[in-house]
Amino acid sequence: MIPKTFQKLIDNFSALPSVGPKMAERLVLFLFRQNEETLEDFSENLSGIKNLKICQKCFNISEGDLCEICKNPGREQKIICVVEDALDVISIEKTGIYKGLYHVLGGTIENSDSNEKSDLKISQLLDRVKTEKTQEVIIAFNPTTEGDLTALYLKRKLQPFGIKITRLARGLSTGGDIEYADETTLSSALTNRKELV
Ligand SMILES: [Zn+2]
Repeated sequence: MIPKTFQKLIDNFSALPSVGPKMAERLVLFLFRQNEETLEDFSENLSGIKNLKICQKCFNISEGDLCEICKNPGREQKIICVVEDALDVISIEKTGIYKGLYHVLGGTIENSDSNEKSDLKISQLLDRVKTEKTQEVIIAFNPTTEGDLTALYLKRKLQPFGIKITRLARGLSTGGDIEYADETTLSSALTNRKELV
């Protein structure tokens, strides 16, 4: 018989994406062998996740109502980089070259069917561009069919504002993920961003 706590943890880990039952067993066994301090730290961090919020302005992961980036007056307030999800913010922040703000769209348009767009933060982006007097929107989607479709859709929505609309240069291989791009590739894709015309 497997101890109950052990089995429950295996179930927890198995429920995570990309973790199969065998991997879950190995992870739990690994944790079991850690010292108390490591385990305390792990469980404290895990429990802290429930206190995290979504930034009310850019929809990034945040400790408070506004994230650290939105709260920072040192960031360029007139540039917004639109990304699919919060992991893309982490990747772009790691390059250290981007100093503007973000907007986490929450996904991409999967087809041109209009009801696919309802839960994306598109209208919130348009409101921000208007009220924050944004001068440039950088579209930083993955170079996939969905990414291209969403970029085109956003371009149409943003054009009436008469602002600069750019997209990351094609340094990223087609179908490659921003999340997995190395910092050099991502930096050059940002620096060499092209205006969408
Ligand atoms: Zn924010």
